[in-house]
Amino acid sequence: MNLSQTQINWIKEKGRAFYVSFKMRLVPLLILVGLSLIHAKWIASKHQLFITIYAGVFSVALVGIVPFVKNLVAVPTIQLLRVIYYDRQYPKREYNSPKVDALIEKMDLKGKAQVYITKNPVITGPCCNVLTGKIFLPEKWIHPEQEPLATISHELGHIKAIKEFNIEIILGVIIVFEFTLLVTMRTIPLISKIAVFTFEMLLISYLARRNEYRADEIGAKYNGPEGLISLFEKMIHDNSFDDDSETHPSLRSRIKRLEKII
Ligand SMILES: [Zn+2]
Repeated sequence: MNLSQTQINWIKEKGRAFYVSFKMRLVPLLILVGLSLIHAKWIASKHQLFITIYAGVFSVALVGIVPFVKNLVAVPTIQLLRVIYYDRQYPKREYNSPKVDALIEKMDLKGKAQVYITKNPVITGPCCNVLTGKIFLPEKWIHPEQEPLATISHELGHIKAIKEFNIEIILGVIIVFEFTLLVTMRTIPLISKIAVFTFEMLLISYLARRNEYRADEIGAKYNGPEGLISLFEKMIHDNSFDDDSETHPSLRSRIKRLEKII
């Protein structure tokens, strides 16, 4: 059977959308966490059956666990190390414009945030270091006739929301601790380890995605939602594929939230 390129692309797209889409990956992980909470004593008589079912769910959940570990832990760590490594070779310069300065001032972040333009090839999109307040934009994002104010407003939103994010991280640590206590009291050590790890991944992903929505909202509050909406629409158009990920909500759902603000 010979498939045309369009047919192959169609299969690939549907496959991505239905089989490995973020929400589909999420389902076995949630079942895995839920199963782990079944009381060990209750299952004692059907121990082998339970372990067999659990192993089955675990192998399916690997479809989700692998991208979670890759996108939440491995890729960001490698990316960070590469950014640091290339940083010396590709110097950055400060980006100052009256509009950007006015936005920083309006958001009450004067002295707390600074925008830089970089040629660092690892930085392919706008990003920020919330600890230092430094925002990095790749050279190609700068067009003199149209300033990337919407993007900058989102990154400034991250810096402005650092307190809320820190509080949520602390709450997250407490929730993980409580969950660990609960699950270790109820099941065998191996299952509790898998459950705690999966639960942590789900929670970090939830907090990361929540943090993106918040940065959008803060950016839109000070710079208006229109700029971000048209930026996201352009990104959907350029990439043709738009799905939720472990770290970011889909662009369409971000647009939906922003439209509520208008
Ligand atoms: Zn962001």
